[in-house]
Amino acid sequence: MLRLGLTGGIGAGKSTVSRTLSELGGVLVDADVIAREVVEPGTQGLSALVEAFGEDVLDENGALNRPALAAKAFGDDESRAKLNSIVHPLVGRRTAELIEGAPRDAVVVQDIPLLVEGKMGALFQLVAVVYADAEERIERLVGQRGMPENDARARIAAQATDEQRRDAADIWIDNSGAPGDLDDVVRSLWADRLVPFEQNIRDGVVVRTHPRLVSADPTWPAQAARLMARLALACGSVAVRIDHIGSTAISGLDAKDVVDIQITVASIDAADALTEPLRQIGFPRLAHITADDPKPAYGIGGEADPAVWAKRIHGGADPARPVNIHLRVDGWPGQQFALLFRDWLQSTPGVVAEYLDIKRAAAAAAAAVDVSDYEGAMTAYLNAKGPWFDRAYVRAWEWAEETGWSASTSA
Ligand code: ADP
Repeated sequence: MLRLGLTGGIGAGKSTVSRTLSELGGVLVDADVIAREVVEPGTQGLSALVEAFGEDVLDENGALNRPALAAKAFGDDESRAKLNSIVHPLVGRRTAELIEGAPRDAVVVQDIPLLVEGKMGALFQLVAVVYADAEERIERLVGQRGMPENDARARIAAQATDEQRRDAADIWIDNSGAPGDLDDVVRSLWADRLVPFEQNIRDGVVVRTHPRLVSADPTWPAQAARLMARLALACGSVAVRIDHIGSTAISGLDAKDVVDIQITVASIDAADALTEPLRQIGFPRLAHITADDPKPAYGIGGEADPAVWAKRIHGGADPARPVNIHLRVDGWPGQQFALLFRDWLQSTPGVVAEYLDIKRAAAAAAAAVDVSDYEGAMTAYLNAKGPWFDRAYVRAWEWAEETGWSASTSA
């Protein structure tokens, strides 16, 4: 199962997108529909509202009179909180029921107008934002839905900004063009990303790409932040901390388009306890590096006990977002070095330039390997970086001593 959160400003075209996704086979869970359903006549929800706000929230047919409820419940914070405490749990329970009832291989599409405002992105494997410029949306709302212009403007002003939506979006669906244009975009999203992603989650397949450098992407940190929020939710208190590490965490550095994230845990057993929760949200385990495996090239001579180099690695099932998730034990040298290396580079531009040269040479070595041979290409890539890394390990720790760096002050 894959869960997609679908959102966008009012009038952007969310309903149009969710209709297409549902035609393609998505299991639609519509927050607005559920919010109405749980307070229909005869429901426990409606009785609770009457009990809290009085009989006059009902119309002459005994159904909910929304304007009357709004007048009572939106007047002050306490009433609003009371309303939310009645409706939110009911919506949550019904949503959970619908998701549990969906087939194992479902792509569940949750249409949630206020997903960004409610900071709900971490609940989904992917968040898609449907976008259209505010003036365009006002024109559509007034012209096609007959909404008074002032209402349309007021609603848009009360919602999240485009920038907040951009930070939350894994997928940005531009609906500025003709409605037909949207159709093709949504169809390829379905076929090229959602369906294979869902299949990969079920099969525990990790997406890997041939090592190749791309220009530094300024959205890498925001992409990492979204991944980290999802990981944090799945790990709960088992994660001591979660950090964006590696080259994509260094601003301006060209890198492989693979986001590295480190989950710090208290023990290797704790890392193993995360195997299943991470697999379920699309990060299957990739490798099992034990004390018996050769330790990484860097650090030679640094640590006497090879056991402290044990770690677990997970990858990502999303065809459009390769990731490496490193699970390492708090205080062990690999865990410390990942944070140190990032901070050393971030504050030492000369080293970044050096590292870029090494990465280019490594990418050239990988490019010489046949594209079908992922392992071979990765080995060529890592071997080319090895000698520089051995030195870097020592240099970074010298820098740490000079500057008084510690992992607890980084992040
Ligand atoms: P939302 O669900 O995001 O509030 P809708 O999908 O209901 O938005 O779209 C708002 C209005 O704009 C609807 O009347 C819809 O038919 C219309 N619409 C959607 N996409 C386009 C488009 N690309 N061009 C013109 N009108 C559109």
